[in-house]
Amino acid sequence: MDKPVLYIVIPCYNEEAVLPVTSGMFLKKITDLAAAQKISDESRVMFVNDGSKDRTWAIIQELAETDGHFCGVCLSRNRGHQNALLAGLMTAKDLADITISIDCDGQDDINAMDAMIEEYLGGSDVVYGVRSKRDTDTWFKRTTAEGFYRVMKMLGADVVFNHADYRLLSKRALEGLAQFKEVNLFLRGLVPLVGYRSSSVYYERAERLAGESHYPLKKMLAFAFDGITSLSVKPLRLITLLGILVSTCSFLAIIVTLIIKIFGFTVTGWTSMICAVYFIGGVQLLSIGVIGEYIGKIYNETKSRPRFIISETTMEKDNK
Ligand code: UDP
Ligand code: MG
Repeated sequence: MDKPVLYIVIPCYNEEAVLPVTSGMFLKKITDLAAAQKISDESRVMFVNDGSKDRTWAIIQELAETDGHFCGVCLSRNRGHQNALLAGLMTAKDLADITISIDCDGQDDINAMDAMIEEYLGGSDVVYGVRSKRDTDTWFKRTTAEGFYRVMKMLGADVVFNHADYRLLSKRALEGLAQFKEVNLFLRGLVPLVGYRSSSVYYERAERLAGESHYPLKKMLAFAFDGITSLSVKPLRLITLLGILVSTCSFLAIIVTLIIKIFGFTVTGWTSMICAVYFIGGVQLLSIGVIGEYIGKIYNETKSRPRFIISETTMEKDNK
């Protein structure tokens, strides 16, 4: 078997502070792996510039000029991590035998790539990078993140515990992924749906080497909610259950009220009335909101707008 061509796919958004630090690490990994005869020398480090407002794209272009192992793809505007990653993977799909996606901030241990490639050579099409512990995260980030994975599991969405977007995908897994046309992208929920043999590699997550996280709590919550509603219809079912529960309680309350009436203890009853009105009003609004979330998703899907638009790449020059 020929040595596989590996593309390391790295989305970057406003990362001018960290790119000069980590690009060398990625390059070294590629050249070391090639020297060890694990991968072909045609392998590349592919940066995806997600519409950065700083010098990120200029840095990527410089890197591509200084070393042939670097290449870059530039999106026409900022589309978010998931879309940028998909753009990179779909571009790499036709050029590579395997891709490994990783963030550009050096938080994920690049040395886990050796083990990932071993797993691939051992017959896995998908290899998940899983965090063995979260010592470097704050208590708050750790609890919320782990809570998120638990809630996802409870709601029936198949996600790998403590795995983010650090993973190896084979060519046929990428081709499988390409058939998922959804606009509401939640890659870590889609990859398990692609199927094929998968395995996990464990690593410890470090601190960001430079720059700042793009995922404050507000964005993390939105991401979690998006993930749940993209992958599971259980919240809709929960509304039905809630409806049944509230109706049953109301029915019992009616009987109790009638009994009180028959026995003549007629009190003004304003408090219980108003409580019921507020309670049922709240439940209804909440339920409409959840249903609305799904309708919003349908709205976006029916428009099927492009998930990313590539404005330029550094590979164009190579082909000419
Ligand atoms: N990122 C991106 N587009 C965005 C936001 C982030 O491509 O709109 C990239 C970012 O450059 C990084 C990765 O996604 O490589 C993860 O972002 P970050 O490290 O800020 O998130 P965290 O690790 O804190 O969850
Ligand atoms: Mg990070």
